[in-house]
Amino acid sequence: LTQILKAAPVISQSLEQLKSECEKLKAQGITPSMKVILVGSNPPSVVYTRNKKIFTESFGGECEIIHLPETISKADFRQQLKLITQRDDIHGCFVQLPLPSQLQHIDVGSLIPPEIDVDGFHPNNLMKILKGTSQKALIPCTPKGILTLMEHYDIDPSGKNIVVIGRSMIVGKPMALLLTEKNATVTLCHSRTLNLEEHCQRADIIISAVGKTRFLNSKYVRHDQSQVLIDVGINVDDKGKLCGDMDFEDLLPHVKSITPVPGGVGKMTILSLAQNLLQAARNKL
Ligand code: NDP
Repeated sequence: LTQILKAAPVISQSLEQLKSECEKLKAQGITPSMKVILVGSNPPSVVYTRNKKIFTESFGGECEIIHLPETISKADFRQQLKLITQRDDIHGCFVQLPLPSQLQHIDVGSLIPPEIDVDGFHPNNLMKILKGTSQKALIPCTPKGILTLMEHYDIDPSGKNIVVIGRSMIVGKPMALLLTEKNATVTLCHSRTLNLEEHCQRADIIISAVGKTRFLNSKYVRHDQSQVLIDVGINVDDKGKLCGDMDFEDLLPHVKSITPVPGGVGKMTILSLAQNLLQAARNKL
C-alpha cells in the first residue's frame, strides 16, 4: 500500500517542541518576534502570510504583517525595509514573494540582515549551506521542511539517487546542496534536461519543484512501488483546484510513498519558518 507522506503528524509533533522552546526563551525574557512584509494584496500571498502569522502565534511567538502599497517605489521599499529590519526587538523578518513588477529585480535576500533572515535567502546563510550546515544556520524553509518530513518518515537520503526537478534559488538549488551534504547522489534537472523520464525512472527519490499542474505522471516512474515522490509544486488546475506538479491519482499505485498537495510540503515550509524564527532568537542570546 502506498504511504501518503502527510505533514499533519509532523506538525503536531513539532508544535509541542516549538511551544516548549518558546517557553524557555520567554523565561529568559525573549518573545520570538517576526515581521512579515507584504507588498500589495496578491490573494495567495495574503493567505500565506495570514497562515504564517496564525502558526507563529499558535506556539507563543509574535508575528506582525506589515502591508506596503502595491505601487511602492524601489527607493521607498528599500527605505522601509531598512527601518523595519534595524529594530532590535525583532528576531525574524521576511518579504512575502512574489513582489510587484517594479520591485522584481531587487535582491530581497541580501536586504534582510542575515541574523534575522528566517527565509534563509541571504548570501551568508546560503554560503553556510554551500560549506555544510551548522546547527545554528537559518536554512531556506522549503528544502528544510522536506528534510524534516523525510526524517519523520525515516527516509534516509544517504547513498540514495535523488532527482530534484527545478533549479530555483529558493527550492531546487539549496535542496540539492542539502541532500548532497546528507550523502545523497543528486541529479539536478531543469527545463533543458534531456531525457527527464529516464533520470526519474532511475531515481530512488524524486523531488519536483517545477510549478506545472500534474506535470509528472506515471510515465516518469518505475512501476515497482519502490520510489519516494515529494511534490513541492503549488498550482491551480483548470477547475480551480489546488494541485501539485505530480499527477497524484495516476502515480499513487506505482510508488512507495508520495506527498499530497495540499497537506504536504507547503505546511512543512511554514513549520521551517517557525523553527528558523526560534533558531534566530536563540542565536541572539
Ligand atoms: P521557478 O519558476 O523559480 O523554477 C521552476 C523550475 O522548474 C526551473 O528551474 C525550470 O527550469 C524548471 N522547469 C520548468 N519547466 C520544466 C520542465 N518542463 N522540465 C523540467 N524542469 C522544468 O519556481 P520555484 O522553485 O519558485 O517554485 C516551483 C514550484 O514550487 C511552484 O509551483 C511554486 O508555487 C512551488 N513552491 C512551493 C513551496 C511550498 O512551500 N510548497 C515553496 C516555494 C515554491 P529552468 O531553470 O531551466 O527554467
